[in-house]
Amino acid sequence: MRIVFVGPPGSGKGTQAKRLIERLSIVHLSTGDMLRQARADGTDLGKKAAECMDGGGLVPDELVVGIVVERIGQADCQAGCLFDGFPRTIAQAEALDAELDNAGTPLDMVLELKADAEELARRMLERAKIEGRADDTPETIAKRMKVYTEQTAPLLDYYQKQGKLVTVDGMGTPNEVFDRTCQAVQGGKG
Ligand code: AMP
Repeated sequence: MRIVFVGPPGSGKGTQAKRLIERLSIVHLSTGDMLRQARADGTDLGKKAAECMDGGGLVPDELVVGIVVERIGQADCQAGCLFDGFPRTIAQAEALDAELDNAGTPLDMVLELKADAEELARRMLERAKIEGRADDTPETIAKRMKVYTEQTAPLLDYYQKQGKLVTVDGMGTPNEVFDRTCQAVQGGKG
């Protein structure tokens, strides 16, 4: 099964993704995690990505698409994967569709996690305190929200037109949201 998770920063994508991959026994493909790892390893990619990440902007499409294409070609992804934080632009979504269609394994569904703006801001600031992520300062949080609205939210329409979009209410506790997410996956499978 191939699922894309879309949602603004703080919507709980990461938390829900970790639980869902266990439930479905599929690979968790988080471009944010992959880029942070590349930085930690000091690779060329990591160096190129660093500035964009710290500023709350997006890493160029060709770099991100490159790492995703390489990753989905690996054996463990054949049984399925959950894309978390990718695609984030229409160009990335088109590249992913082309790649998956070529392989004869198109996306099964796109889950949108939805939460209201106040709740998103509250969760992000809480995460900043707990995890100390360099890109969780009030300025970069605001920038990432803007980037989401301008560059990533158009994906909702893109996938809606493909009939693949399923919206999940992301308000409430992680357990409540997980129950709804599982129901959405179940329903979406038909
Ligand atoms: P995340 O952990 O998904 O919030 O990603 C952290 C940061 O990594 C983002 O703010 C971007 O700078 C970068 N990033 C992650 N995924 C992508 C992507 N699909 N396209 C562009 N930049 C990305």
